[in-house]
Amino acid sequence: MMSNGEKAHSPNYSKLDKKIRRKQRKLARQQKDSKRRNKTRIQIAKLHNRIADTRKDFLHKLSTKVVSQNQTIILEDLNVSGMVKNRKLARAISLQGWREFRTLCEAKSEKLGRIFRVISRWEPTSQVCFDCGFKWGKLDLSIRSVQCLNCGTEQDRDENAAKNINKVGIGHCHDSKRTRIDPKTTKSSKLN
Ligand SMILES: [Zn+2]
Repeated sequence: MMSNGEKAHSPNYSKLDKKIRRKQRKLARQQKDSKRRNKTRIQIAKLHNRIADTRKDFLHKLSTKVVSQNQTIILEDLNVSGMVKNRKLARAISLQGWREFRTLCEAKSEKLGRIFRVISRWEPTSQVCFDCGFKWGKLDLSIRSVQCLNCGTEQDRDENAAKNINKVGIGHCHDSKRTRIDPKTTKSSKLN
């Protein structure tokens, strides 16, 4: 999803993915070193290549479009490691080739003199302990201070939020890569 409301539809690999998994099950049943097993192995490799080609083509086209149409490119980083618990989701994300897309956008931005940034996923600043990062969840507005369940620190609600915002801001600067700036255009694109 981009900030201008446009949605990028990624190709659907689920059919190919299903095929691969079916073949892999077949492979597991087949006799080692047999001709049939070898044939299945090659079929699986070909299917993997087909997914990779489709993905590469899609990512190239999308990154070219995004970078050529915008002066500033902001990518919201996906917390992939945090999603590993959900195996299905992790699989989908790796298929989407997030890192590849990021690398392509960065390279093209540099070439065209765009501003390229990666920001971390937005964490609700009042719901997270500044000291240890523990997420205690939504607080009722009447609660002005909270004792962290994890590290035991007493946090003032507003102070904690302010410190978290500052931390996120520093993160932005750290992750940003400035190339040439055109002050006339301020259009930006946000993807996730
Ligand atoms: Zn804490």
